Amino acid sequence: MYNKTIAELSAGLEAGEFSSVELTQVYLDRINSLDEQLNSFITVTPERALEQAKNADIQRAAGNAGILNGIPLAQKDIFCTKDVKTSCGSKMLDPFISPYNATTINKFNDSGAVMLGKTNMDEFAMGSSNETSWYGPVKNPWKQDAVPGGSSGGSAAAVAARLAPAATGTDTGGSIRQPASFCGITGLKPTYGRVSRYGMIAFASSLDQAGPMTRTAEDAALMLNVMAGMDPRDSTSVDEAVPDYTANLNDSIEGLKIGLPKEYFSEGLDDSVAKVIESAVKEYEKMGAVIKEISLPTSNLAVPTYYIIAPSECSSNLSRMDGVRFGHRCKDPKDLNDLYIRSRGEGFGPEVKRRILVGTYALSEGFYDAYYVKAQKTRRLIANDFNQAFDDVDVIMGPAAPSTAFNIGELTDDPITMYLSDIYTIAVNLAGLPGMSIPAGFANDMPVGLQLIGKHFAESKLLNVAHQFQKETDWHLKAPASFK
Ligand code: GLN
Repeated sequence: MYNKTIAELSAGLEAGEFSSVELTQVYLDRINSLDEQLNSFITVTPERALEQAKNADIQRAAGNAGILNGIPLAQKDIFCTKDVKTSCGSKMLDPFISPYNATTINKFNDSGAVMLGKTNMDEFAMGSSNETSWYGPVKNPWKQDAVPGGSSGGSAAAVAARLAPAATGTDTGGSIRQPASFCGITGLKPTYGRVSRYGMIAFASSLDQAGPMTRTAEDAALMLNVMAGMDPRDSTSVDEAVPDYTANLNDSIEGLKIGLPKEYFSEGLDDSVAKVIESAVKEYEKMGAVIKEISLPTSNLAVPTYYIIAPSECSSNLSRMDGVRFGHRCKDPKDLNDLYIRSRGEGFGPEVKRRILVGTYALSEGFYDAYYVKAQKTRRLIANDFNQAFDDVDVIMGPAAPSTAFNIGELTDDPITMYLSDIYTIAVNLAGLPGMSIPAGFANDMPVGLQLIGKHFAESKLLNVAHQFQKETDWHLKAPASFK
């Protein structure tokens, strides 16, 4: 049962082959017996899940079940959940119980989906390896010495290990696509503004976007159908009609124009990863797509631009975690200053502190124009590159990450190399575009993700292009040996 996709499980529920209570129990049992090896969940909510499953079964019996009714899902611990702890991977928020649900959580609740628990993540979503979590690192189900990627590493590992049929993730610079690539699953970062950020703890507000992490493109479409849409509570969500994302999955891609940015295939890319990506592109050629080399000349500016903008925004967003309004409060403060300094000093981990320092510096008087304003200008150039490229091509393809999953501890003392693991994903966030990573093969026995980048609001096209690949290949069906 746990090898089935959402689409298959939904059909099984509808045909009465099993109930949601039975299905939910299967996943709860798997989490119970296997997650010790992975640490992919921060919180598991068995009673609540079974209660939701029972209600879903009642709804179905009454004849009003949508596709996600009764389907168990895992939620990244960045989404506020009423009555269930929301930690964002940080000691700062460890005991925090939100008084309200994130819009995404409400939407899944309304769809009848079941929440299994909350997944582990890098602290405040800052990281590429899940090692910055206060709850300890998550292990990659394909090789437990390796990282699952980050920051949505708990979600990626849980889906790859079949501890949940699907999960949510968030992506500020690559946090859905890079862990999807490292764990061999399908991840979609929608267009900025497509999915509400209300109740999603903010890291860098102009970049953050939530999306589905699934095994197939079809499942990602089913999840996005629920997640997408304008939310009056999020002024950056866009009032753009939500199509049925499954409607175009089977469109032919004959004549599809695919652009390969030459900058994504140069120095820094592992040869073994390049080979996998090249053979995936050949597969598309066989399906009738036309391949064109393109150039995104500002590609090399993406990482430095991001590491000014994201820390600047996070230094502002995290100022509310001061031991008064939100977050950990130190014991016996002498005065207000002492309370702030020790509460924040004790609550935040080293990577978060590093970002707050960089961001505060970049925003400070005298440096603001040199760093922050300059970064906003290069951000515009990066977006222009993509706009120009999309005059000639329908979809851009390349690797999701320069390597396969590295080992736990390998890059912890080398933040720059760690930052570079998002070199192919970050520009997409800066430009606000949708991007996907889909399983494309293996290099050194570890999964490799192919990245697809589309025009604004072209999620349907990306899902169609991904689904066609998954009809021709079976990489997305492979399961890690110890979790089959
Ligand atoms: N790895 C990047 C960072 O640490 C991206 C994280 C993310 O997308 N949330 O900022």
